[in-house]
Amino acid sequence: MQALAYDPIREETELGGQHAVLACHEAASAIKSCNEKRRNEKKASKPRFTSRSITYDTRSMTVFHEREQVSLATLGDHARVRADLSLPAATDGYQYEFLDSDEWEYTESTLHYRDGCWYLHLGFRRPKIDESESTTANGTVLGVDLGVNQIAVTSTARFFDAGELNHTRREFEKTRTGLQETGTQSAHRTLERRSGRERRYVRHVLHDVANGIVEEARDHECDGIVFEDLEEIRTNLPEADWHSDWAFRSLKEYVEYKAEIAGIFVETVQPWNTSTQCSECGFTTDENRTGADFECQSCGNRNHADYNAAKNIAKRYLRRGHQSSRRRGVSQYALKSGSRTPS
Ligand SMILES: [Zn+2]
Repeated sequence: MQALAYDPIREETELGGQHAVLACHEAASAIKSCNEKRRNEKKASKPRFTSRSITYDTRSMTVFHEREQVSLATLGDHARVRADLSLPAATDGYQYEFLDSDEWEYTESTLHYRDGCWYLHLGFRRPKIDESESTTANGTVLGVDLGVNQIAVTSTARFFDAGELNHTRREFEKTRTGLQETGTQSAHRTLERRSGRERRYVRHVLHDVANGIVEEARDHECDGIVFEDLEEIRTNLPEADWHSDWAFRSLKEYVEYKAEIAGIFVETVQPWNTSTQCSECGFTTDENRTGADFECQSCGNRNHADYNAAKNIAKRYLRRGHQSSRRRGVSQYALKSGSRTPS
């Protein structure tokens, strides 16, 4: 349809490129349903559009739900038009469920003109990455949550516990404080030697974890590994000192080069609500999380909080219209069925 009609539409009308594409979609779907009816031996006349309408998608339309406004691309190169949406006064109207939700994304929507008014029929669909659909998809990613008590937790429920690392670092910290208080030249030299030893020890642990993460990705035939953006990790983890910050960066670097050798890519996502959102139903509230325990206040899903977060991280990469997830052809994330609590 597009091959036949796109150029003539652009030449003969003022429709912009995206509108021309969507007009083709609209016409194609009308023809398709007509053909289906005829195939089922029902009467169907040639489709004809009698009322004025135009189709939008997320490239030609932006909904600002907080401001209850929508911005729509107009003909040719003209600027966008911004219009107020008239939504019901009662804030529990079903419309709000869709507008504010992470669970739905906008799809093709139509603007109709009727009796002197414009009506916008907003289209929503479920983002396509449910586990149930994943069997038909090809590429897979492994989600990884980084943290203070668990260095890393994967969406396949592999836990890299930080207990020993934290303990050893506290021991180093104690001697450091002691040596700093001593303040002598030799104490200073010991201090330097010990901090070198501490860094080497932390690096050694991180290399092990990085190897484990890449191994996990390989075992589950993943094409990629997804982390949270490290800039954000710092603000989300007040208890993480500069050390943890440095540790996370190093860990990510180690994973990057080890993954590259294994032919696995590494990407990051913005971590909004990854720790408070339910990876099963999408419900988000701070109350979902109590320390290491996650219990969804809506669907009752219970899990280790970091495991829940790891799944959200993978999901976010696949869902948030990440250009690269489409380019790389990944549409599912590796998962271990059931839940698990680390010992
Ligand atoms: Zn839930």
